[in-house]
This record gives sequence, structure tokens and C-alpha cells, in this order.
Amino acid sequence: MKGFDAGLVVPEGLAAHGRGEAFDYLIGERTTKLAEAAIKAAAAMLLSAKSPVISVNGNVAALVPDEIVELSKVTGAKLEVNLFHGSGTRGMKVANWLQKHGAGEVLGVDEKFSKKIPEIQSNRRKVDSRGIAAADVVFVPLEDGDRTEALKKLKKKVIAVDLNPMSRTALAADITIVDNIVRTMPRLVETARKLSLSRENIPGVIKGFDNKANLRESLKTILKGSKNLSSAR
Ligand code: ATP
Ligand code: MG
Repeated sequence: MKGFDAGLVVPEGLAAHGRGEAFDYLIGERTTKLAEAAIKAAAAMLLSAKSPVISVNGNVAALVPDEIVELSKVTGAKLEVNLFHGSGTRGMKVANWLQKHGAGEVLGVDEKFSKKIPEIQSNRRKVDSRGIAAADVVFVPLEDGDRTEALKKLKKKVIAVDLNPMSRTALAADITIVDNIVRTMPRLVETARKLSLSRENIPGVIKGFDNKANLRESLKTILKGSKNLSSAR
């Protein structure tokens, strides 16, 4: 709500947040072992990337600004503002907000470097030529399906955080962390920090992760959650 009042989040963002909360309730508002495995794989993929980028929208900036900035420092990933319901002013607000939380350069707000992804029609087709356009790995916490699919068409490796294991984003991503972003981000920063000290383990972590299997099991956890709720009546 604070993020809404500060002009970082739009009403559509609040609705998306509500959808997330419903799923969070069903997984028991905890980080599952499955999510932990995905977090580790995500840390490994970010650390092994050549040009990683973290895509930040209003909800992400409002919920976890410190952790987003920290993750970019630990992994060397660039920060890029990406708004679905975009306006130049809100983009600047998000960038300034991140900088208030310790970020250095924030991409995605300078029209000079703006490039359009032909695959998407919405105004969210804009990316930064120095950022997502040139990235090999893109971290998109809380992303919309159209855009995730477009990033895959552009042959990017995509890491997403999404409480709904059936969303198009969850299904299209290479690594999907089915967890609340508020719980995921501190863990992801910590895991990346640890893994950066034992880089020899990175290839094994990535190879050992199966996203489809992880999503299938996450869905089972949710179905179990809803069954427990209905038998409680
Ligand atoms: P898609 O476009 O991928 O099919 P969608 O249209 O249902 O999904 P969007 O609004 O495009 O949903 O994307 C927001 C996604 O983020 C939703 O799947 C929602 O469950 C998830 N979400 C919202 N809040 C959180 C949160 N705090 N942590 C993790 N995931 C969240
Ligand atoms: Mg959507």
C-alpha cells in the first residue's frame, strides 16, 4: 500500500498482488523445499551469466528494494526498470527509489537507449539496448506472460518468481521460483553470496535442476493445500 501511495505501484499492480496472495495462502505462506532448490539454481544461473539483468517493476521496487539492489551487487547484474503500465514519470520514480536504496546506474529510463521488442504489442515492449536487449540471462520477478514469452523468443534465459505455477510466466521461464518474492529475495541474496565463494559448484547446481518437475511438484503442494482447506470445513 505504501508503494501505491508513493506512486510506484498502479491499481493493476495491487490486483496482481492479490492474485499472488491467494496462491500463497494455499502453499502455506512458507518457502518450500522446491522453492529453495529453484532459488539455488537461480543464484547459480545469475552468477554464471555473461550479462545478467534484473528487471524491476513497481511491485518489485515497492516490496524488496534493498534486496534487489543487493542482488545486483552480489551477482554483477544490471538493474532495468520495466513497467507494464508504463509512464516516463513512474519509471523515473522507480529508478530514484532504487537509487535511494543504494543502486548505482538504473537502466530503462533513458529514451536514447530505448529499443522495441517486435514480439510484443503492449507498451511494455520497450527494453534498454544496454540492458535486457543485450542480456543472456534476465531475472523477472513478477512478470507478465506475454513478456516472458517474448524474452524466450529472443533466446534469453529467464528466471521468474511467481506464486502461480500455472501462469504463462511460470511455464515459459527456465527457472521458476514458486514463492512469495518477499521471502525469496533475502534467501536468493544469501544463496548467491555463498555460491559466489564456491564457484566450482555452479555448473552442477544448474545441471541438477529440472524446472518442469519442480513446477509439477509445486502444483501438487498447492492442490494438497486446497484439499486440506476443504476437508477442514
Ligand atoms: P501470466 O500473464 O503469466 O499468465 P497473470 O496474467 O495471471 O499471469 P500477471 O499479473 O501477468 O498474472 O503476473 C503477476 C503474477 O505474479 C501472478 O501470477 C501472481 O500470482 C504473481 N504474484 C503476485 N504477487 C506476488 C508475490 N508477492 N510473490 C510472488 N508472486 C506474486
Ligand atoms: Mg498476465
